[in-house]
Amino acid sequence: MKLFKCTHCGEPIYFENTRCTQCEYPLGFVAEQLELLPLVAESTDTFRVYNQGETLYRYCANHQYGVCNWVVEDGKSRYCEACTLNRTIPNLSKPAYLQRWKVIETAKHRLIYSLRRMKLPVIGRSIDPERGLSFDFLADGTQKRIRTGHMRGLITINIVEADDIEREMTRQKMDEPYRTVLGHFRHEIGHYYWDRLIRNSDRIDQYRELFGDERQSYKDSLRNHYEQGPPAGWNLNYISAYASAHPWEDWAETWAHYLHILDTLETAYEFGLSVQFQPVMDSMSLMQEEKIDPYDPENFKTLMDLWGPLSFAMNNLNRSMGHPDLYPFVIPPGVLEKLSFIHQICYQARK
Ligand SMILES: [Zn+2]
Ligand SMILES: [Zn+2]
Repeated sequence: MKLFKCTHCGEPIYFENTRCTQCEYPLGFVAEQLELLPLVAESTDTFRVYNQGETLYRYCANHQYGVCNWVVEDGKSRYCEACTLNRTIPNLSKPAYLQRWKVIETAKHRLIYSLRRMKLPVIGRSIDPERGLSFDFLADGTQKRIRTGHMRGLITINIVEADDIEREMTRQKMDEPYRTVLGHFRHEIGHYYWDRLIRNSDRIDQYRELFGDERQSYKDSLRNHYEQGPPAGWNLNYISAYASAHPWEDWAETWAHYLHILDTLETAYEFGLSVQFQPVMDSMSLMQEEKIDPYDPENFKTLMDLWGPLSFAMNNLNRSMGHPDLYPFVIPPGVLEKLSFIHQICYQARK
């Protein structure tokens, strides 16, 4: 994620802020510019961007619920490009559901930021009714359990995942090292882009070579996984135990990691932070001179050379605070190859 600064007073601001903490200007995220900008009121509900011409903006209609700080040009859409993808939102008459929805939207907006930053096509249902991207944020009913998942562009998230206690209990039950709402979004959007970028493309053979043949029964594979657990030695070829369940899940899990890595590297880059291994001194050192925007390099190895030392340093910082590791994973060589394949595809797609 980029580091945002209020262009009115220079104060650093978080992506989620709705008001500058220093000068108290209202803030709006302008997706076309990928910038969080201070706003000057023009009427009760229209704004101009401070020091930036006459274009009139409005807040996304979801701003009223405190779940979105993006703006849209006046007279265009009611919802911002992130919220217009919502098909179903939680029942807001339940205060706990509003709270969960906020957590969900925070993660979703970060996801949409990344997709825009990666210059990947985001095609919604209004353009592609069959397979366009949309979101259902649903709660378990008395009769029906909601499964988080992806189906023909529709991503369903069970909003119970936004409850820290519930999510942590599931994480422990499933024996996972990491479980977050943002991680769910990054995983599910991986399925969406598999459909867009791999299915029916000339990359399918290379995909099958790396991830396996996805034509094996998905249902049987998942049942086997839950009954018997992952195969011995899975961690030599997969980033997570779940990735070994089926080639589709392997793709989505690996894809999610690619997004974890890109976004975290961008944050480090924006702060001028990189950790480099120095073979001569046999130690790590914080380097400020060599800065690489993770969205630039065509060579995936460049990203990994940054990521290895940085994630190791971040894990140690977290441990110093008594937190679990920031990145509780080890990437084996087999997974590096898969990540590199994903990198090449995304790199080509954004050109
Ligand atoms: Zn300010
Ligand atoms: Zn919005």
